[in-house]
Amino acid sequence: MQVLRSYVSGSWFAGKGKPSVLVNPATEEALAETSTEGIDFAGALGFARDVGGAALRKLTFAERGEMLRAMSRVIHANRDALLDLAMANGGNTRSDAKFDVDGASGTLAFYAELSKELGPRRVLLDGDAAQLTRGPRFVGQHLLLPRRGVAVHVNAFNFPAWGFGEKAACALLAGMPIVVKPATSTAIVAHRIVELIVEANILPAGALSLIAGPPGNMLDYLTGEDVLSFTGGGGTAATLRAAAPVVKDSVRVNVEADSLNSAILGPDAEPSSDTYNAFVRDVVRDITQKTGQKCTAIRRVLVPRAHLDQVVEDIASRLKEFVVGNPTTEKVTMGPVATATQLRDVRAGIELLAKESRRALGDGAFEPAGVPAGKGYFVPPTLFVQDKPLEASAVHAHEVFGPVATVMAYDDADQAVTIVRRGGGGLVSSLYADDRSAIGEIALGIASAHGRVVITSAKVADQTPGPGTVLPQSIHGGPGRAGGGEELGGLRGLGFYSQRSALQGDRAILDAIVERG
Ligand code: NAP
Repeated sequence: MQVLRSYVSGSWFAGKGKPSVLVNPATEEALAETSTEGIDFAGALGFARDVGGAALRKLTFAERGEMLRAMSRVIHANRDALLDLAMANGGNTRSDAKFDVDGASGTLAFYAELSKELGPRRVLLDGDAAQLTRGPRFVGQHLLLPRRGVAVHVNAFNFPAWGFGEKAACALLAGMPIVVKPATSTAIVAHRIVELIVEANILPAGALSLIAGPPGNMLDYLTGEDVLSFTGGGGTAATLRAAAPVVKDSVRVNVEADSLNSAILGPDAEPSSDTYNAFVRDVVRDITQKTGQKCTAIRRVLVPRAHLDQVVEDIASRLKEFVVGNPTTEKVTMGPVATATQLRDVRAGIELLAKESRRALGDGAFEPAGVPAGKGYFVPPTLFVQDKPLEASAVHAHEVFGPVATVMAYDDADQAVTIVRRGGGGLVSSLYADDRSAIGEIALGIASAHGRVVITSAKVADQTPGPGTVLPQSIHGGPGRAGGGEELGGLRGLGFYSQRSALQGDRAILDAIVERG
């Protein structure tokens, strides 16, 4: 069995003590084991800060961008092998695995390209210099400087490659070293990516470290210039926010957590129109892609009451075409959920939703394809229907992180906005409509509760990748339940890793400093 090692203080380290075992969720076969016991976390974070941070800060944005390009290339060059690992350890279909692995290389390449516009400098200007007194010479110039700490990245199990790539791209380009901690259960892909980057000797010593398993007491060693970027469940986020250095030393924290994302069929969208078909396509994709284990997946589907039955029928008939089973078996189009814990949680979530909504699909005999009898963590696509969403509660409060969604009826645009906002803040909501006044009313009514609102109208119906795809040009994150975080968004993504500071003084001196910086 493979033994995963962590990469700390410039060396590979195999932990001692009782290991965690990583399995194939389709067959429950053990694939690898890992332990982080015995890691000197204080030393690892210190090495990253002192050695990695110092080296990165000497490089220009363009030079850091070239490193991101090399990281992207090495991932892409090893794509097939990484896809195989994702299929085995994550229960991904090949297409799911591509979504993750290509998402990582694509995001790194995007930031490599972006670095060109920042060119040979090391300091980012934040706006123009502002005159501070009557005379024109005394001015204030805001700068964004790399924080002189370490960026600790704690990732969720569902995107071991993309989660690594999207966080790494912004941190490294901003000039901060990273310590990445993938979720233990699916760490094989992230472990291999780090191995490839280390073997290719792309980054300066200390710029990249890996904790391949449980975090131990690592967070106790965070200091005031460090940042902690977390993706995962809201409960874990609450624990991390209460960590002593976060409270005492104001460690900067970004949280990407649960989200009850919604899709709204607009009041004007007629069944069988291009806009309607795009809506059905996106809902079905989000229920099944990565077996519904996407933070951005549509969980709540809002439709005009008159179309409720038609929509349920159309979505259910498409979902019935999916073949659930071992992703390595031909014709399988949806794999298992990632872990035994996930299976338990998803089943419990389905029972909770069933208390208040009726089940239209997913209740009945179910035989996954290509697996030994009784093995694997499988859940069939499951669809609920809710006629009175304003009287329901679980559907707006409990994220079932699997192939599960609820279709709900609404009566007018105002009510649709109210229903969507019951989710308490989300990553993304999507609206399928062509009537500009309805689009304006709904989109502006829900936008402040979301990081993104995707508007799909007939003319872009075949161009949008759907709301579940996070593109690096736009921000990823959302208020409230979604964690209150913000990642990506082009250069905005560097802000979290930078300290804003205003230099005040003689304009000529400040200009010279900036020029040299
Ligand atoms: P999780 O159980 O909260 O774990 C997330 C990460 O936190 C894992 O790496 C885990 O490590 C680590 N962790 C747990 N306790 C910790 C502690 N005390 N100190 C430091 N790290 C700790 O979440 P998950 O089950 O992996 O992911 C599912 C959840 O993530 C869902 O709720 C989903 O909505 C959310 N999610 C959100 C986004 C987003 O971008 N908003 C994206 C993906 C997923 P171990 O694995 O070693 O326990």
